[in-house]
Amino acid sequence: RAKHNGRACACFFNAEMDSSARDRRQIERDLREAVAAGDIGLVYQPLVAAQTGRITSAEALARWTHPVKGPIRPDVFIALAEECGIIDQLAEQLLRQACVDARNWPADVRVAVNLSPLQFVSGKLVETVGAALAASGLCPSRLQLEVTEGLVIRDVERTFDQLEALRSLGIQILIDDFGVGYSSLSYFQRFPFDKVKLDRSFVEQVTQSQAARAIIQAVVGLGAQLGMAVVAEGVETHEQMEALVAMGCTHLQGYLFSRPLPVTTLCAMLESQRSVVPRQDSQAA
Ligand code: C2E
Ligand code: MG
Ligand code: MG
Ligand code: MG
Repeated sequence: RAKHNGRACACFFNAEMDSSARDRRQIERDLREAVAAGDIGLVYQPLVAAQTGRITSAEALARWTHPVKGPIRPDVFIALAEECGIIDQLAEQLLRQACVDARNWPADVRVAVNLSPLQFVSGKLVETVGAALAASGLCPSRLQLEVTEGLVIRDVERTFDQLEALRSLGIQILIDDFGVGYSSLSYFQRFPFDKVKLDRSFVEQVTQSQAARAIIQAVVGLGAQLGMAVVAEGVETHEQMEALVAMGCTHLQGYLFSRPLPVTTLCAMLESQRSVVPRQDSQAA
């Protein structure tokens, strides 16, 4: 099918690159507009306590439906927002929305918000978070912030200072997608995270792979030594759930329990949980 002609191939290739670069610039413009218009929304995925099955928190996940292209994956548009310098603006909107939403939930349910590593660069993060809490009236102990292992992109000390300042407000700091990045273990020496979210890739393999089980077991053991609960994300089957609970994961998140939900659906779920299931513990996740 392809012509064995270098020039023809090169031309075709360049034309395609051109159109994808144009496409990309268009999406970038659309994203800027969507952020300016406040069109990026949030859905919430419940986390349940392994012991009680109760929803103890929900993770806020960003959603954008492009007017022409339809839903764009959040890892894609978050990366785009980072590249075109609007991540702080977008993140502040989402954080404020999450705090306002969570304000209406039962007081023993927390909300988890993902942070981009770039949000540690401006030096304004602590102030932004404090302002979002104050504006919503959400108690800081009900906010969790999820950071990834790629967290330290500039100044290590400044990053950890900000984490400490956030924590001293009463916020919990979680490390997300644990086990797939770099320099993860050394972070624990520098900063005591409240919880570790084990990457989905280990959870996916838990029933088939001895290596995955050994890694999970090691993370749970490390967590126990350092006072960090271990959360499993991406739990899709009963078999995975049973294995993870047996290994000591305290909280579970995944399609087995619930997909990410519109806030109204989550609220209805929390309401029925409140009225039907007797409260067994007053500690949120
Ligand atoms: P994450 O923070 O690790 O979020 C978990 C992702 O796993 C979510 O994908 C969720 O829908 C998905 N997930 C949950 N349970 C299951 C399951 O059982 N099976 C499978 N296959 N997937 C499951 P989502 O919503 O597409 O988000 C992808 C990533 O985009 C997030 O990963 C996070 O890194 C980023 N992201 C999403 N929203 C935000 C945000 O507001 N700010 C920032 N900075 N990043 C965000
Ligand atoms: Mg997360
Ligand atoms: Mg994750
Ligand atoms: Mg992830």
